[in-house]
Amino acid sequence: MDPNRLKELGLLPVWRLKSGAIAGQSPAGGENMSDQRKTVAESRSSEESEDRLTSIAHADWERLRQMVSVCTACPLSLTRKQTVFGVGDEQADWLFIGEGPGAREDELGEPFVGQAGKLLDNMLQAVSLRRGQDVYIANIVKCRPPGNRNPLDAEAEQCRPYLLRQIALIQPRLIVALGKVAAQNLLATDASIASLRGRLHEFSGIPLIVTYHPAYLLRSLADKAKAWEDLCFARDTMRNLRAAHSS
Ligand code: URA
Repeated sequence: MDPNRLKELGLLPVWRLKSGAIAGQSPAGGENMSDQRKTVAESRSSEESEDRLTSIAHADWERLRQMVSVCTACPLSLTRKQTVFGVGDEQADWLFIGEGPGAREDELGEPFVGQAGKLLDNMLQAVSLRRGQDVYIANIVKCRPPGNRNPLDAEAEQCRPYLLRQIALIQPRLIVALGKVAAQNLLATDASIASLRGRLHEFSGIPLIVTYHPAYLLRSLADKAKAWEDLCFARDTMRNLRAAHSS
């Protein structure tokens, strides 16, 4: 494909083997030539990745959705059936962020549609919320990690600009991080869920609350009561944020 077209679509950088990248191979011309080529290739690839970030940062919803749908920035693109962009009200006050699509989401292209999704819908209902009505649901990564493993840091990092753009477009009043992977990624910490829940955090100036992942709650019924406390805390926080805004 024409590289300009690839660039337009935000598909660059593509994976390319740098000359001599295979162990033990050194291109003709000696070390200096190889170093020079490496420097040129590296600066080109860093320009391309700057271009990608700029395109994402300026994308509207349609363009962003399209960029995500053809993204090849990390190896998850090799094993996914389809990307899972996110779903809901694009002007929602509430943004729920999970970790990444599972098998069912990979098949249907929508976040939280499996068993965990049913529980999430019930959790939303418990605080008078509904998927799609003042609620947006997204994930840290847009492609299914094989075998439902946690996304790797490098995968989350490649996907982060998409999530940042979604957040910038939505401008939610409150973010709820669902589970350890979402919480640790958004708050850039290794702290446990137990130590993060129950208090108000901030992500880029937006209040953020941490709770358990619905898939975890399916296995650990004892923590459902704690998740309920978290949801009540989130509901009260939203009330306060709205009241502060209107006063
Ligand atoms: N788990 C997640 O974190 N996200 C989904 O979309 C589905 C399951």
